[in-house]
Amino acid sequence: MEISGIATYAQLRGSGASRRDINDALATGVIRRLMRGWYEFRDADPDVARALELKGRLGCLSGCASYGLWVPAVYALHVVYGDGARFPHLPGLFQHVSSAPHPRTPVWPLKDCLAQVAQRHSAEEALVVLESALNLRLIKPDEIHEVLGHPTRSRIRLAKHLDVSESGSETRVRLFLRRCRVPVRPQVNIRPIGRVDLLVGERLIIECDGAAFHRSAEQHEIDRSRDLAARDLGLDTLRLSYRQIWDQWPETQASLLRQIRRRKHINRSR
Ligand SMILES: [Zn+2]
Repeated sequence: MEISGIATYAQLRGSGASRRDINDALATGVIRRLMRGWYEFRDADPDVARALELKGRLGCLSGCASYGLWVPAVYALHVVYGDGARFPHLPGLFQHVSSAPHPRTPVWPLKDCLAQVAQRHSAEEALVVLESALNLRLIKPDEIHEVLGHPTRSRIRLAKHLDVSESGSETRVRLFLRRCRVPVRPQVNIRPIGRVDLLVGERLIIECDGAAFHRSAEQHEIDRSRDLAARDLGLDTLRLSYRQIWDQWPETQASLLRQIRRRKHINRSR
């Protein structure tokens, strides 16, 4: 079976291609050899192909992205090598070594990718991909322990922070507030506004842009009417853009802290 425009020699032969057909396809540029036994078609996913060219497999955060999980705009490729693999160390890449052998697929299986993020990256990055996988129903809650592996103290802490989230932006803001010991609930249904991303304390709503692109004019109107409905209920709304959450995070954290110190989230009527 051909995955993401990538095929092994055996898969090409299995689909009926003779050795000569394969050589012809190579000569005419229909396929290109990535590494021994692996070929790409012209429509191949460039990240998957690049990882094979580097003699590894796409995994970790890049692997999660290829499964459609929410990941922050990817800054570098994460290539994961099987146990005992020999490979060149290159700058500008994340190159990890797994204790498992290379999978037969061009991308590490999803649970391996999640485990690689949990082992190699921050608790925040692990939470982002785990919550995205749960949100998309690609894993079940009872499979989390399998992904996290041996329950070290840091992994138990990580699992405690797992919650519902529609984007990594929400996860980042929620985790920051929880670490500051600020009461925050995700995905709260408030009538008649509907579901809000985060409710901080009793009266501060935080809405987080999950995507880097601009919101449509129609979405902008919906946001405004939700804000007005929130004011009617005595709630404040704080909207954070993708850039504020991912590109200007230190400044955004400082601003959030100042607002919390002014106790903006506490119900004034009490
Ligand atoms: Zn990685």
